Amino acid sequence: MIRTRFAPSPTGYLHVGGLRTALFNYLLARKEGGSFILRVEDTDQKRRVDEAVQQIIDMLHWAGIEFDEGPYIQSERLEVYKRHARQLLEAGHAYYCFCSQERIEKVRQEQIEKKQHPGYDRHCRDNRLDEAENRIENGEPHVVRMKLPLEGERVFTDLVRGVVRIPYNVLDDQVIIKSDGYPTYHLAVVVDDHLMEISHIIRGEEWLSSTPKHFLLYEYFGWEPPRMAHLPLLLNPDRSKLSKRSGHVAVEDYRSMGILPEALVNFVALLGWNPGDDRELFTLDELIREFTIERVNKAGAVFDIEKLKWMNGEYIKNCSIGRLTELVKPYLFDAGFDISDLKKLEKVVELIRTRIATLPEAVEETAFAYKSDIMPEDDKAKELVDLDSSKKLFSVLIERFSGDTALTGEEFKTKVQVIGKELDIKGKLLFMPIRVALTGKAKGPDLPHLVDILGMEEVFKRIGRWKP
Ligand code: GLU
Repeated sequence: MIRTRFAPSPTGYLHVGGLRTALFNYLLARKEGGSFILRVEDTDQKRRVDEAVQQIIDMLHWAGIEFDEGPYIQSERLEVYKRHARQLLEAGHAYYCFCSQERIEKVRQEQIEKKQHPGYDRHCRDNRLDEAENRIENGEPHVVRMKLPLEGERVFTDLVRGVVRIPYNVLDDQVIIKSDGYPTYHLAVVVDDHLMEISHIIRGEEWLSSTPKHFLLYEYFGWEPPRMAHLPLLLNPDRSKLSKRSGHVAVEDYRSMGILPEALVNFVALLGWNPGDDRELFTLDELIREFTIERVNKAGAVFDIEKLKWMNGEYIKNCSIGRLTELVKPYLFDAGFDISDLKKLEKVVELIRTRIATLPEAVEETAFAYKSDIMPEDDKAKELVDLDSSKKLFSVLIERFSGDTALTGEEFKTKVQVIGKELDIKGKLLFMPIRVALTGKAKGPDLPHLVDILGMEEVFKRIGRWKP
């Protein structure tokens, strides 16, 4: 039975890297008919942010990633971890440590000066358990540390990286219970993954170096460890590590930027995973069908926002008109457009859907339909309406047809062509100036459709503005 989990620490927003981790765990569970579990790892009370859990759940839900169990909350399970720490203490795999922060810091400084590997010097490692318990009864502050082998290395198989070897001498006797009685991540993660019968752990590369400690804990408890897969780092296009400084990293930010959830999911799925061919567009269901850990690579994955925008544009093109209309509504409303006529709005949205990559771009593209004071968007556009040929074209159009308010867009276009012939105005010089007069832009949606949306009266009003 496949059981996977997403185990975020509620320290703030859901990071796009977290979304990818959640997604891969979800995909594996769904593909194999298993379960996907949400576990909140909030044992670091200093870093805990109150709203974060709800935020994370909301964002997963927005992305369409539903969990089958949980959220399990680690801070509600302190007794479980204490019991397990006790077991390790009694078996001699862990010990009470009474060293003060100052002492630990001093030792560190000395090690650095001597150019030694800085770390805890295992001062309390050989304390006797009964003596330590007496000191605790007397109120001495303490932590619990696990014992690490003093030499040798851990060799294990990672589903992404293959055989990994990590020497023990780069690792400390890890604190497993802190002075506040809370477990550290390392103890809690192992105990919970075991008790929750997790079969596969898929998580970020940053946890790879901790994995030997986790394997040791499994061994100390006599448990079978789950399979592990560590996902590649997310990189900026310049191959530096993706961070807040380099751009947006919160899933929420992408939602506010007008990225569709299925586009973001599709995009993060391809950060480190590939289908084995050059297909790029996948629905969640297709991802479930196609996903395998074997196709996850270990090389860092570049987070290319331009590609995300392209993908989003593809999803916008293929979105149902009803849904797309609902999605752009808030942006148009905020721009002050009167969008009360739903029929009109749907027509406008239909017209511009192939022209936008993100939802807020709809404001600019639909402005022609909701603003009357349309002006040329730049000097080039202005030049087009100011051409002598354009002035002439506008004058003739108004003289002959401005009374004809029943013209359809197609009929209007035909008339323009006829007059173009008469005046010997061709190609770009014929339609572009009209487009500028109507929308402010030389390029844009199909003219007949534009005209139908605006209505002939408005069309002549806008053209009239530019006639001599
Ligand atoms: N709580 C850890 C995190 O926030 C989870 C790491 C893991 O999946 O084991 O990334």
